[in-house]
Amino acid sequence: MRNINSFNRIVIKIGSAVLAGTSGRVNNSILASISEDIAWLLKNNKEVLIVSSGAIALGRKQIKFSEKPSLAESQALAAHGQIELMSAWKKHFKKFSIPIGQILLTPRDTELKISSKNAKQTVSKLLAAGCLPIINENDSTATDEIRFGDNDLLAAKVAKLIGADLLIVLSTVDGLFSSKEDVETSKLSSMIREVNKITPKIKKMAGHASRMGKGGMISKIDAAEICLKNKCAMVITSGKNKKPIRCISKRAKATWFVKK
Ligand code: GLU
Repeated sequence: MRNINSFNRIVIKIGSAVLAGTSGRVNNSILASISEDIAWLLKNNKEVLIVSSGAIALGRKQIKFSEKPSLAESQALAAHGQIELMSAWKKHFKKFSIPIGQILLTPRDTELKISSKNAKQTVSKLLAAGCLPIINENDSTATDEIRFGDNDLLAAKVAKLIGADLLIVLSTVDGLFSSKEDVETSKLSSMIREVNKITPKIKKMAGHASRMGKGGMISKIDAAEICLKNKCAMVITSGKNKKPIRCISKRAKATWFVKK
């Protein structure tokens, strides 16, 4: 088990299924717990950035499309839901007097020299001003071929861009399990505690995406691969734990990805 205290610049990715209920409602008790933990990290002089999913999921509360929306419908859901998402974060961080800033990125923005430089500068200025950056994909302008699609990859690219030393992925699962069947029951003996290299065997252990998010374990492993190549550790744990970030160093079930 690793200690969160040994990291300084931390990106925290929160999945759609963690922060949104099935009917597109905000899961306020979870947001309260996560924002309390982030306030604690900031108090301990950590630099923190959030990558928050949930725009499409929260858009479903008021806009009713089919169960499997088209790309254009998902983009419309995101355009509406992004406002709900940021209002929810704003409400929760207000309790700790933490101002927030929104950054929406496309995959191209993280690759192109000028836009990635601008994004990096925006993050630095926000951090210097004590304002918490909250990043999401710019869903409404990204086309299908160039979409991240899920925020695991976006979070890994952001971690690389800003030179983070830790990416925390708050998911609905406790971590990586050697058998897909053990994910639901969270069988301890099947849990992988630490991964030092992404091998074909590790990729094989990854399961499928959840209904609300698009990523699943496979994209988390891809994200871990990017992190490991860039001297950034990554940890996957359940965002549904009480105090999910603080308990990583104590007792939470989690999978760490760290280079030896
Ligand atoms: N940008 C998408 C959203 O906010 C991410 C979806 C996902 O991570 O699966 O809804």
